[in-house]
Amino acid sequence: MNAQESQVAGEPLKKILGRVAGKLDKKFGLETTVELLYFFPRRYHELGELTSFPQLTLGEEQSVIAQIADSSRRRTRGGKWMLSLQLSDGENLMDAVFWAKSQHLITWMSSQMQVGQTKLFSGRPSLYRGRLQLSHPSYQEVSDENLDAASNQAAKVQAQRPEPIYPAKAGLPTWTTQKAIAVVLDQLKFRPLPDPLPEEIRKEQGLLEINAALEQIHRPQTRADYEAARSRFRYEEAFVLQAALAERRQELAADAPILKEVPGGFTERVASSLPFALTDFQQQALADIEERLQSPHPMNLLLQGDVGSGKTVVSLLAMLLAVDGGRQGIFMAPTEVLVHQHFSTLTSLLGEYAQPGGFTLRGTEGIPIYRLTSSMSTAEKRRTLDALKTGQPALIVGTHALLSERVMLTSPGVVVIDEQHKFGVRQRDRLRQGESGTPHLLVMTATPIPRSVAMTSFGDLDLLTLKGMPPGRAKVETFRVDTANRTWTARTWQRAAEEIVAGHRVFVVCPAINPGSQNEDGAGGEEGEDAAGSIANVSDTVSHLRSLPALKGIEIGVLHGQMSAEEKDRAMADFTSGKTPLLVATTVIEVGVDVPQATMMVILDADRFGLAQLHQLRGRIGRGKLGGVCLVWSGAQPDTLASNRLQAFTETTDGFRLAAVDLKLRESGNILGESQSGRASSLKILDLLADEAVISQARQDAKTLVTADPELKSHQILKEAIARRISEEEQEFLERG
Ligand code: ADP
Ligand code: MG
Repeated sequence: MNAQESQVAGEPLKKILGRVAGKLDKKFGLETTVELLYFFPRRYHELGELTSFPQLTLGEEQSVIAQIADSSRRRTRGGKWMLSLQLSDGENLMDAVFWAKSQHLITWMSSQMQVGQTKLFSGRPSLYRGRLQLSHPSYQEVSDENLDAASNQAAKVQAQRPEPIYPAKAGLPTWTTQKAIAVVLDQLKFRPLPDPLPEEIRKEQGLLEINAALEQIHRPQTRADYEAARSRFRYEEAFVLQAALAERRQELAADAPILKEVPGGFTERVASSLPFALTDFQQQALADIEERLQSPHPMNLLLQGDVGSGKTVVSLLAMLLAVDGGRQGIFMAPTEVLVHQHFSTLTSLLGEYAQPGGFTLRGTEGIPIYRLTSSMSTAEKRRTLDALKTGQPALIVGTHALLSERVMLTSPGVVVIDEQHKFGVRQRDRLRQGESGTPHLLVMTATPIPRSVAMTSFGDLDLLTLKGMPPGRAKVETFRVDTANRTWTARTWQRAAEEIVAGHRVFVVCPAINPGSQNEDGAGGEEGEDAAGSIANVSDTVSHLRSLPALKGIEIGVLHGQMSAEEKDRAMADFTSGKTPLLVATTVIEVGVDVPQATMMVILDADRFGLAQLHQLRGRIGRGKLGGVCLVWSGAQPDTLASNRLQAFTETTDGFRLAAVDLKLRESGNILGESQSGRASSLKILDLLADEAVISQARQDAKTLVTADPELKSHQILKEAIARRISEEEQEFLERG
């Protein structure tokens, strides 16, 4: 490693900072000078600005700039001394309390924080007796206050400097981080960092050079300073990512099978024997896919369409094009329940052409269709794999775990990945085959994903939207049930009984499996651990429902993630057949489950779920000609985020509208959920949703650069920046390439 390279990686903070280095590592995972320099302020405080209290998040360490409105000292019953401050943001009040054994200490603190002063506090807001409170916050001067009176010009300028506010953790308030960064910044004067952005691009885009940008983002003199710096880093993030993707594209061989409709082939025959006519939208989507399959460049397509929009049949016809081309069509679902569901759906759509398990029925020509899950017996698995290994044209439905069985992918033509837009680049990379080339990829999701996100997070997928809904879909109405309202809660179960008597099915969804457990998906609800004991759970709900006179004589089934695959299968089968017409379940039923007789869903503690998840859940009912009713139970107080979310949910069944609402109600990055968390280290200030223009520009620039210099031979710094910043998953890919 030469000297310049080690500079790109940065030096260990331990060598430079002493004790605080350990804290920065422990709390934020920052180990090197460069990592610290790229730890950007969360926001800036400008003179005279106070933090608005209602925007604070309970229980999270935050910095608060507030004016001290009142102050009092007293002795507590326990014999301690207490200083109690009233803080103001100009509109709202909050308490800040400090205790100490020594009266002197409290007196001294109170002299440090006098009424009328504005201070920077760092602490974890909580609610105490209905009031916001900071307990033992750490505190600091807001830089250079009281300078209003200063006559000298330098002091005035000083006072107007925006104050960077860094993410804080207990024991690591913003000012400590700020001081640590200042030490590292000062070193840059002697040992500047090399810039990963090529100079021509920087000039063309009017972006700051890296060292200047670092100075301005951490120690801005004016707002314009940090804004210019942020623009540069925003572009840099987009550019590094796009350069990595462009490099990858460059490596992809044009070795995909060319698949075309064969006259009289299965695609044609199955299409004409479907139990329904394809909608115009489905036909359009299919035409688009067909065109892509005729090219040796592997298709990389994200098909998004709302829950129930009819993506499955589109994917079936795409897979049949593979079969007609002598290849295999592979359908991957996220869970075993869904594998079984899709196996039977696809089999029934194939109609007389289906050869389940490869068995030829009536000696006719047909399409072998196999199912493969990890819970199958070894013998059964072996038999299936042996059949597949021959490379015979066939359809295979399996879980994503299928991918680990490389051996079976002997001649993949089209691979469909259902409801798993989080499917990573690395997993996708596994699909590339030595001999038979790269299969075409169709990723399907009901989660609306913006183009800019598809261009980045998901490793550069093209985007296609399936609009509209198949005709004849009945309506689902949604109502909110306040858990405190006994009339409504009782009415819920009467209604459930009525549905069941009419021959329909009812889902009851709980966030947890057992009392005291987390949300099944580990997501946790709005208020974290504290309410864990009272989350609606499957086991309590089942016993409660069994004891209700209104549901007397109705068999109740159970479905959750801790059951074995067979148990889950049986539970779904019993529900579908009507043996247990009421099913108490967790979100395992979330995606794709298709039971046309299901007309009612009760979602308990609905505020525990995100909007996207609620939408997916609701999509399980009203799937046939019968309408549906969805009752969302919640104890959420009016005008809380949780309550507003549920309100929006009752008002529309349009997934894309809900996604927009969700965005507005939450911070934008969250729509990506977990898919982004793995990336938190690589995307710091780039907002995938808001910065589409930046991403497009960076993509174009990166393409030009990589085309001219595919191995980035004359862009070593960029190359290293890519290696350092791209998530591990992609890094592995890049290293292998
Ligand atoms: P999703 O896009 O959520 O995966 P599905 O593919 O499961 O939706 O389709 C939802 C339902 O609509 C299924 O029962 C399917 O058979 C039906 N369906 C799909 N296309 C049509 C169509 N063109 N006409 C009528 N029903 C259709
Ligand atoms: Mg589906």
